[in-house]
Amino acid sequence: MLLGTGGGQRIFEHRSQTSQALVHGDSVILIDTGFNAARQIAWAGLDAGSIDMIFITHDHRDHTQHIGHVLHAAWAAGRTDPIHIYSYPGIGDVIDAGLAEIGNHDAAAVRGLAVLHELTEPGVIYRDDDIRVTSVENTHGMDYSYAFRFDMPDRSVVFSGDTGYDERVVELARGADVLVHEVVYMPLIEETVIAARDDPETRQQMRQHLTTNHIPTELVGQVASEADVGMLVISHIVPVEMTANDDHLLLDVLERHYDGPIVIGRDLMRL
Ligand SMILES: [Zn+2]
Ligand SMILES: [Zn+2]
Repeated sequence: MLLGTGGGQRIFEHRSQTSQALVHGDSVILIDTGFNAARQIAWAGLDAGSIDMIFITHDHRDHTQHIGHVLHAAWAAGRTDPIHIYSYPGIGDVIDAGLAEIGNHDAAAVRGLAVLHELTEPGVIYRDDDIRVTSVENTHGMDYSYAFRFDMPDRSVVFSGDTGYDERVVELARGADVLVHEVVYMPLIEETVIAARDDPETRQQMRQHLTTNHIPTELVGQVASEADVGMLVISHIVPVEMTANDDHLLLDVLERHYDGPIVIGRDLMRL
C-alpha cells in the first residue's frame, strides 16, 4: 500500500509517496515514515497498534520525519509489544525529536516501544518463518541508504528507496512480483526547477544530482525490465506538482523500456 505522505513540510503532498505499508496477516510493516505518515495510516484504515516493524531506507526528512508520531499512534492504539525498527544509525534522534514535538507526558512509554536495529551492512536483515527481508546499498550520495526486498509466501516486493540507477537494486529486484520505484521526470524538472536557476553551473549540479542520486524515468523502466519484475509501481514522483493528469507522461517513457504492467502510485492506493 502506498501511504502517501512525503517531502518536508508540504501538507498536501499528493504525488510524493515516500512511505509504504505492507500488510501481512494481522501484521503491519512500514517502509519509511514521512510527513503525516501517522495520519495516512489512519486514513488507510490500518490499525496503528498492529505495526510490528518499520524499515527506514535512509536519513532524509521526507522518509523519517514522523516516526515519532507513528510510534505515538501505535501506543495510543494500545500497543504494548515492541516495534522493531531497522534503520541507518541515528533514527533514535528523529524519534526523540518527534516525541518532544508531540509533548505527551507518556513519551517515555512511547519511546519504550521502539527496539532499534542499526543497519550498517547490507544483506539479510530479518527472517522469520514466512518473511525474509534483504537489503542492498543503493546510490543516493549518503553513507547509509538502502533498497529492501520482502520475500513472503504469496509475494515478493522490492522498494528501491531513493536511488540513481544501481545494478545492486536490479539484482535485488530480480524476478520479484512487485518493484516499487522512485522516479524523476526530467523534462518537467528542466522546465521548472532548473530553468529557474540563472547560473549554468548550478543548473548542471542540479541536473547531475537528480539523475545520479535519483533516477530519470527511462532508467526506471530499464531497471524493471532488466530485473524482469512482474509489476512496476511508481512511487515518490518528482516533481511533486505532477498530478494524475500527467500519468501519461510517465507511462509514455516507461512503456518504451518495460513491457509489464505499470501502476503510477497514488496516496492510499492498495495493490
Ligand atoms: Zn532521499
Ligand atoms: Zn526522498
